Amino acid sequence: MAVFGNLIRVILELEGERVMAYFITSDCIACGACEGECPVEAISMGDDIYVIDPEKCTDCGACAEVCPVDAPQPE
Ligand code: SF4
Ligand code: SF4
Repeated sequence: MAVFGNLIRVILELEGERVMAYFITSDCIACGACEGECPVEAISMGDDIYVIDPEKCTDCGACAEVCPVDAPQPE
């Protein structure tokens, strides 16, 4: 399945779709530090932890720089 996923990614990239985004792992302690750092307001509180909207994320990495537990990770 990983091969299939990579194939889909390659096809999307060839079509000019931006598929890179950060996501927040379960290590998030919901401190909220990252939310105000995001220049495109892609971060919001989810059910238990903060979440990143992949449609908005520009992959800038600002959230990862302020997170105390390294929860935001690049895809
Ligand atoms: S990588 Fe940048 S744009 Fe994406 S969620 Fe983090 S701060 Fe926002
Ligand atoms: S800074 Fe890190 S721990 Fe705090 S809300 Fe954001 S992802 Fe979660």
